[in-house]
Amino acid sequence: MKQRLQKGCVSVGKANLDWSNIDFSYRQTPQRYVANYKDGAWGEGQLTGDSTVVLNECAGILQYCQEVFEGLKAYTTKNGDIVAFRPDLNAERMVDSAKRLEMPPFPKEKFLEAVDAVVSANADWVPPYGTGASLYLRPYMFATGIVIGVKPATEYQFRLFSTPVGPYFKGGAKPITICVSDFDRAAPQGTGHIKAGLNYAMSLHAYVAAHANGFDENMFLDPATRTYVEETGGANFIFITKDNEVVTPKSDSILPSITRRSLVYLAEHYLGLKVTERRVALSEVADFAECGLCGTAAVISPVGKIVDHGREICLPSGMEKMGPITQKLYDTLTGIQLGTMEGPEGWIRKIK
Ligand SMILES: *Cc1c(COP(=O)(O)O)cnc(C)c1O
Repeated sequence: MKQRLQKGCVSVGKANLDWSNIDFSYRQTPQRYVANYKDGAWGEGQLTGDSTVVLNECAGILQYCQEVFEGLKAYTTKNGDIVAFRPDLNAERMVDSAKRLEMPPFPKEKFLEAVDAVVSANADWVPPYGTGASLYLRPYMFATGIVIGVKPATEYQFRLFSTPVGPYFKGGAKPITICVSDFDRAAPQGTGHIKAGLNYAMSLHAYVAAHANGFDENMFLDPATRTYVEETGGANFIFITKDNEVVTPKSDSILPSITRRSLVYLAEHYLGLKVTERRVALSEVADFAECGLCGTAAVISPVGKIVDHGREICLPSGMEKMGPITQKLYDTLTGIQLGTMEGPEGWIRKIK
């Protein structure tokens, strides 16, 4: 019997895209993974060609915003393997995020299965080595069950789709200018440490305001005292002192970036640098030599200037290129991701 192909499921060889010039936007790929939670258990997940989600008008996600997500990338390495970078940490973080929003955690093993299945099924959309592009993976889960009285829903859906994205920096990483925000992104004892859409919804106003004023990003301060550095809307800070020490802010309301945690490990164990995770006062930022923003999208975006209500803090590394230590960290992490450098045990998951 002839097998019925799901809508959009045709293998055509490598997709015909100008890989080095695609931007960070959604491009539909043929297959995604879906699993449903009902009657107290997660069902068998499966791939589907259907990119749409149909919900009841009273679904929990639409009323009380129960949603958490993740973001990671699959790469083609130098020797042609398709790999993902530390997806086990994304799985674990999504478990933590789900628990905080009273959602049933999606099992780590199933999460990794979903990553493998989606990347394998869309292998033609994984950009070739050397283009700087990658296949971005977006796992997420949300309340599908009906709720009108305020309480957690009893039904949920987990999905994981993929979309090819271009190199974050075309023609080299130019340092960005950020501003100290007048808004907070997270409340003390709130949800700043989990990856949830709700943290983004409330940061959009600050983001739009920063852009309207000519800044690339916001530096958010600690919500309780507004004196310590937290993070931007979607990336953690890393600072380098004039003595080449790596300093990264410690706070309970920062999202634990996998990129930042990886860079800090590499700084210590590969580059032999001293690393300190501690509170960083806004007043001491002017003393640092380099500053970068860490996240999956760019690995590190160098920061050249921080503007605090008219007071300009210009990092000595300048506005032309990354600082030297930042560049070393960037080269080491991207070398491991692309298979030109041996990474620590377990950091690379070979998919195909
Ligand atoms: C996702 C995210 C980051 C970056 O985390 P990575 O795991 O490195 O991609 C940083 N801050 C916030 C608020 C985030 O949502």
